[in-house]
Amino acid sequence: MAKHTIVLIPGDGIGPEVTSAARRVMEAAGANIEWVELPAGAAALEAGFDSVLPEKTIEAIRDHKVALKGPVTTPVGKGFRSVNVQLRQKLNLYAAVRPVRSLAGVKTRFENVDTIIVRENTEGLYSGVENEVVPGVVTSLKVASEVACTRISRYAFRYATKRKRKKITVFHKANIMKLSDGLFLNCARKVWENEYPNIEYEEVIIDAGCMKLVQDPTRMDVLLMENLYGDLISDLCAGLVGGLGVVPGSNIGDDAAVFEAVHGSAPDLAGKGLANPLAVIMCGEMMLNHLHEDKVAAKIRTAYDAVLGEGKTLTRDLGGEANTAQFTDAIIAKLK
Ligand code: NAD
Repeated sequence: MAKHTIVLIPGDGIGPEVTSAARRVMEAAGANIEWVELPAGAAALEAGFDSVLPEKTIEAIRDHKVALKGPVTTPVGKGFRSVNVQLRQKLNLYAAVRPVRSLAGVKTRFENVDTIIVRENTEGLYSGVENEVVPGVVTSLKVASEVACTRISRYAFRYATKRKRKKITVFHKANIMKLSDGLFLNCARKVWENEYPNIEYEEVIIDAGCMKLVQDPTRMDVLLMENLYGDLISDLCAGLVGGLGVVPGSNIGDDAAVFEAVHGSAPDLAGKGLANPLAVIMCGEMMLNHLHEDKVAAKIRTAYDAVLGEGKTLTRDLGGEANTAQFTDAIIAKLK
């Protein structure tokens, strides 16, 4: 395998535990990676940087083009602007791609869930434009641009076509937000009509979409939506297949890609060695596919599928007793 230089951002909370587990699995699988470890989040301040998103970390991702990132903690209702939002905007990582699939051995209400969430990652209500109009009255601006809505739509249709997916469903609320969600819908529809008639296309108001998802998620194929909806629907879908410990993700731009799980820094588990590292291990698999190292990626998938299928060594979120290290060791033992 060719050598790759990858930026590793351990992150906060459970981040260092789960990213080092993923690194161990990738190395044991034969991935030839030189890691450039740099901080972000509270860890960056603790390491003496003057920012939660040091320029050195951003520059390294620009240089090496690929990063594996652990979750970072963001203060609620005060404090610094989300590191994740800043990172995605600064590197123009406009597409968040989150595959949600049922796993053999992980018992959930539904089987055969296989859905991909494609989330616009740079604007919407995450633009961070908030104002206090007068004391007691505030606004948050939802930004939608034709360029970004068209770009993410084109990405989703291209992705669906490449992966031989059949249908794209756009979740929206254009009945209420007629301009912003209306623009998103118009752009998606135009891309479909003019460029990708090969793919089935539907538009669903997001509240009804949530009901459909929890009634029968197997009917959903690729889901396309703006930023906030994608954030919420990702966690909802994670709940359908076993929880946040089993859903990976990627943030893709034209010049760089950052792979990170859907889950956060899980302060309730941090430092206990109990977190499920699988989501980040799956991020590693996605990253290896992105680097065209499909064989090593497949090896990792076969190994964790075997461990889940046996059901003997599972972390607590999946109903087992294993800790992070035991689960990671079990996957490494299955690598062939
Ligand atoms: P969370 O995802 O950290 O945790 C939600 C629940 O899921 C918790 O009960 C946690 O224990 C459980 N969980 C999460 N990951 C798990 C894993 N790998 N194994 C087992 N259980 C797991 O969400 P939260 O508590 O709402 O957020 C905590 C912090 O993380 C916040 O500061 C938030 O802003 C941040 N966050 C960061 C990212 C990111 O960096 N990409 C994403 C989401 C949340």
